Amino acid sequence: MNPGEEHGAPSLGHPASSLRNHLTVSNIAMSAAMNRLWLLLTTVLVLSATGLGQGSPLSRAVTTADNRQPAIPWPKQEKAVREKLAAKVKETGKKPNILWIIVDDMGYGDPGCYGGGAAIGAATPNIDRLAKEGLKLTSCYSQHTCTPTRSAILTGRLPVRTGLIRPILAGDKLTSNPWTGEVSMPTLLGDAGYTTLLTGKWHVGEVVGMRPHDIGFDEFYGYYPAEKEISQYVDKRRYPDLVLNPKRLAAFMKVAPSHHLIHGFKGGKTIEVSSVNSLEDMARADQVLADFTKQKIRELGKGDKPFFIEHCFMKVHCDNFANPDLEGISASKYPFKDNVREVDLHVGAFMKVLEEEGLLDNTFVFFASDNGPQMDAWPDAGYTPFRGAKGTTFEGGVRVPGIAYWKGVVKPGRESDDVFDLLDLYSTCAELAGVTDKIPQNLYVDSIDQTSFLFDDEGKSKREVVYMWWGAQFTALRIREYKMHFKVVIPSFPRLYIDMATVQTVGLAPWLFNLYIDPKEQETLGHRRNAWLASIGAVAKAHEATFKKYPPKNVGLND
Ligand code: CA
Repeated sequence: MNPGEEHGAPSLGHPASSLRNHLTVSNIAMSAAMNRLWLLLTTVLVLSATGLGQGSPLSRAVTTADNRQPAIPWPKQEKAVREKLAAKVKETGKKPNILWIIVDDMGYGDPGCYGGGAAIGAATPNIDRLAKEGLKLTSCYSQHTCTPTRSAILTGRLPVRTGLIRPILAGDKLTSNPWTGEVSMPTLLGDAGYTTLLTGKWHVGEVVGMRPHDIGFDEFYGYYPAEKEISQYVDKRRYPDLVLNPKRLAAFMKVAPSHHLIHGFKGGKTIEVSSVNSLEDMARADQVLADFTKQKIRELGKGDKPFFIEHCFMKVHCDNFANPDLEGISASKYPFKDNVREVDLHVGAFMKVLEEEGLLDNTFVFFASDNGPQMDAWPDAGYTPFRGAKGTTFEGGVRVPGIAYWKGVVKPGRESDDVFDLLDLYSTCAELAGVTDKIPQNLYVDSIDQTSFLFDDEGKSKREVVYMWWGAQFTALRIREYKMHFKVVIPSFPRLYIDMATVQTVGLAPWLFNLYIDPKEQETLGHRRNAWLASIGAVAKAHEATFKKYPPKNVGLND
């Protein structure tokens, strides 16, 4: 569909470039509803897209360059943390190790420290302990699905900029390599002297040039696709029409993602270690992956070089099968819940190994989920107290658990509701490694260095706005406690947010919620309490302006 027609915003004018026509950036935020409202409310002061304010008096952010996300200056905490980190390097004689622990599709409400745990049939004492001894973020944001989050945290850029806007699925043929021109996190850290490893799920492409060990990781030990894309070959109970039909299965296997455990090395060497031939193989996969990460922590921790390990669990993405050694371990006894318990046990085991190796005080650990629960698979799904789920940009899709831990650096027991976007990990870790000058100068970088937020005892977030995209469509943003939607994903059947939902443009007014008084986004503030409505629209406009000078990529996933 022609973007101008779709959004009724021809007056904004679009360059003929097919990319921009395709992306619809300049009229995404200013959807028809926004434009109409805008005309009504433009008497509000609109500041320049550069300089102070991001166009809104609500914003404290300052623009330092036209290709950098505006950030809130907190000079005192920034200075204090710079000194704190420098003292740490002096004390240990080494840059800090970095361990990211990413769970697949765990809901905000699944861990006990976020209100779930034993109360919903699967205790998570190890994740809870991490939160208790670290910083628990209550407004931590992911993208709405796997591939977008996983690529965003490794590039520091919104998926719409790299073209990795949705999961790559069987049969997808990309028109270009999205990694071309990007400077990945492992590349940055590798150049800074780190040994880099990704264990577990990848889900950002398995063709040569797009594998973890092609895009900067020294080593990859894991699976290319998501759990279900593998288990479906062998699950005759759930997929009898595929598994019990040999001809069909053979045809499908030709286009399907790899079901092998891959051991890849920078330079291209790639070994198929084993394959998933049964549900039991699948159910045991995370134990094998966790054992590998533990072994690597021990091995790399003894070396001279710091390490960056991204451990990505296959679980608790559907379809869940309990590890036979742990079956029934949860009070619930459901496979999803048993797997939450298993993930928690592995998290505890990683921390134990770090402790045994004397690495706890020189390792920055960040724990998160890559998106909200996939309610389409319920009851094989997690829990969120918020509206929506994976596949939407309501809070249920994008607000996730996020815990920062670093013994002696992160003050134990901290909790913050300041916003944190998982893609901030990119600039944060670049700062830890002392390579912020290697962050690309010719690209727009959405990531913000949040070291001072995470590591100052009273740190405040430097991020003012979280932008939410659904595919190539800008659907919502959060600023302070306000959330504004320009488009919404509405299911036609309860819980089917992916399988049976439509993206709808809102009506005359954008949907504006105050998340403090309406965390479930149920009733808009509308004309009763809408003092900030127009100025929040200006924030959206400033964001869309960034795409004019720095056009996004379309790698063939846009439709
Ligand atoms: Ca996911």
